[in-house]
Amino acid sequence: MALPSGNGNSISGPDPEVLIVGSGIAGIGAAQRLYQHGFRNLRILEATERSGGRIQTAHFAKGLVEIGAQWIHGPSKENPVFQLSSQYDLLDEEALSEENQQVEVGGHPTFPFTSYSSSGKVVDPELVESMTNFYNTLFDQSREFLQRDYDPAASVGAYIKNEIAHYAQEWAGDEISKKLKLAILNTLMKLECCISGTHSMDLVGLSPFGEYKILPGLDCVFPGGYESLIEQMLKSLPKDIVLLNKPVKTIHWKGCFRGQTPQERTFPVKVECDNGETFTADHVIVTVPLGYLKEHCNTFLHPPLPSNKVQAIRKMGFGTNDKIILEFEKPFWEPDCRLIKLIWEDESPFVDAEPDLQKVWFKKLIGFIVLEPPQQYGHVLCSFLAGNEAEFMETLTDAEIVTSLTEVFRRFTGNPKIPPPINILRTKWHSSMYTKGSYSYVAVGCSGDDIDTIAEPLPEGPTESKPLQVLFAGEATHRTFYSTTHGALLSGRREAERLICLQDVQCCKSNL
Ligand SMILES: Cc1cc2nc3c(=O)[nH]c(=O)nc-3n(C[C@H](O)[C@H](O)[C@H](O)COP(=O)(O)OP(=O)(O)OC[C@H]3O[C@@H](n4cnc5c(N)ncnc54)[C@H](O)[C@@H]3O)c2cc1C
Repeated sequence: MALPSGNGNSISGPDPEVLIVGSGIAGIGAAQRLYQHGFRNLRILEATERSGGRIQTAHFAKGLVEIGAQWIHGPSKENPVFQLSSQYDLLDEEALSEENQQVEVGGHPTFPFTSYSSSGKVVDPELVESMTNFYNTLFDQSREFLQRDYDPAASVGAYIKNEIAHYAQEWAGDEISKKLKLAILNTLMKLECCISGTHSMDLVGLSPFGEYKILPGLDCVFPGGYESLIEQMLKSLPKDIVLLNKPVKTIHWKGCFRGQTPQERTFPVKVECDNGETFTADHVIVTVPLGYLKEHCNTFLHPPLPSNKVQAIRKMGFGTNDKIILEFEKPFWEPDCRLIKLIWEDESPFVDAEPDLQKVWFKKLIGFIVLEPPQQYGHVLCSFLAGNEAEFMETLTDAEIVTSLTEVFRRFTGNPKIPPPINILRTKWHSSMYTKGSYSYVAVGCSGDDIDTIAEPLPEGPTESKPLQVLFAGEATHRTFYSTTHGALLSGRREAERLICLQDVQCCKSNL
């Protein structure tokens, strides 16, 4: 189904020049909303050779795999990515069913799994399940400190570890079984690092953890790839709206810049690209990732960003969650297995990981998801890896990764004959110069107010004669859905609405 093209709408008064920096879902979402409201002087400047940003689909083995976003988290009525994808007819029947939309998984969907231990044994699934339930209870509790005036710990990691230490005293059984329980809990904390996009849950603030809102619905994927959503969104906009290969170097604001032609009026904003090209505008919506902003916050704006914004950008967390995707000639896992969990028996939430990443980077892997069905994907496993270990993995060659992981598979299954994978694809989100990581989290010392500070438009204050010169969108600017595609989409629409309201107010004033 096509979305309203906006042709019926036209804005009264002069059509402002709007530039959007970044052609991810936030930037395209902002453009779509403005276009629907009649804005026609719109351009998106994108640094790379493609639109989509952290939504990126690739061909691998027999099918498609996701380099960036994998699932719609909480695919139900309140999720705008779910709504839009349903309108575009991009989801399968199961994802669209009422039943699927009502499932409450609390952020932790479960799959049929097999857990292997580092001594090459299958771990009792009942034990893994009971530890998972215990962990999920602690996780749910860690989200309840938002409105309390007292935090029992600074970080989510510290809180969960304190609780584990408390309950572990009552565990029955011998030392070996207690150690195994701790090792299982450690695997679950590593999974949490991937979900939060952080090196350690010790870095994630406890009291603001409850800001993030979990929507109902069992996470679903796009049969035609997540990027099919970006393609559909772009179809609702004029073809030439996105200018690719235009890395923005500096946004000059609070200025008085003459437009491209001699007779043109002046503009408060001028955007300068790496190649020296410039674009003037009334308004710029910045949607670059927080990782990029962190690295360039002193030079990206001129005059520079106000100090409260710089502080919030520096304090907020932005970490790495990478994927390693492997194709095998034949599966070594059971046909009904959807998830292979790896439990390192020597690990515990109370023991720091060895610092020599060369020796141990692969111990941070949480296991492997089986991409299903094999007729569609081939025999493909996908793993997630977060933090410093992921950043180290990005420096290795494909062959080095394949060698390490083949050893891991052989050791954990106790089968020394498992052949190496025939194909590998791994992501490098930390090294990607226009992203510098995967997604944001609210770090220790931060609060939801810091997210709002980052999102605050410039110039600050209501008295400016040229308001809303620089606006900020992107996943890291959404207080309750940060780190997600739906948070990013909503943030782009939010900033578009700001401009639409401004236009309405200015139009009313000029009609008085
Ligand atoms: C591995 C991984 C897995 C994920 N899994 C999920 C998931 O399952 N579900 C989910 O909801 N979310 C997931 N996410 C998060 C989700 O992908 C992002 O939150 C969302 O796509 C961000 O959109 P955005 O528009 O804010 O930013 P982006 O998509 O990053 O878009 C910003 C754009 O700005 C461009 N840019 C940067 N600097 C400049 C510059 N100087 N000049 C011009 N352009 C510039 C970039 O190239 C980019 O195209 C995942 C992300 C990753 C990396």
